[in-house]
Amino acid sequence: MSEDADALDENLCVGSCERCPALVDSRSQIVEGVGPVDADLVVVGEGPGANEDEAGEPFVGRSGDVLDEAFRDAGLARADVRITNCVRCRPPDNRDPRTDELANCRGYLEAEIARLDPDLIVTLGKVPSEHLLGRSVGITAESGDVVDARLGKASRRVLLSVHPAATLYDRSQRDGFFETIARAADLIGASEGSSGQSRLGEF
Ligand code: SF4
Repeated sequence: MSEDADALDENLCVGSCERCPALVDSRSQIVEGVGPVDADLVVVGEGPGANEDEAGEPFVGRSGDVLDEAFRDAGLARADVRITNCVRCRPPDNRDPRTDELANCRGYLEAEIARLDPDLIVTLGKVPSEHLLGRSVGITAESGDVVDARLGKASRRVLLSVHPAATLYDRSQRDGFFETIARAADLIGASEGSSGQSRLGEF
């Protein structure tokens, strides 16, 4: 087990960390992942914004409302999903996390996902999609695609998605976002009650 894995407690929390000086200065608190430690589905965002920094929880506020609505539409309960971020501390002025900051926090994310061993990861937005895939991503065009990504020692199935906030700025993205979350439910078998069969093997 790596040093980073050792640093996570039984709830997959870092607890304390000061690797990123600019983020230590800008954060109110470390925003840990939330949700079950045995979740089949993990969603990964970029990092905490102002609302998340204040609440101490990922994806709250208007983006969180959209995500929760998409979960409900897909037959998923937020409480059953692990929700986490590429960086756990709020960047100043809501800028994107820098490459070095993403690298500083990657070990925590990899350790979290290794311990969860989920069926599927959904990346919400361009930054987490590019961070996990290690390549440039045209997120609007690639949203809904399922790809494999190397995370730590394992290859993981990743479903790419636009960020829920994109639906607030551009209503035309709403249907696509909801369809992507519905596809996530389908891929983990959460929607198999109606068909009686998992479609995991199709992808
Ligand atoms: S973003 Fe991650 S690596 Fe950087 S200070 Fe916060 S917890 Fe530590």
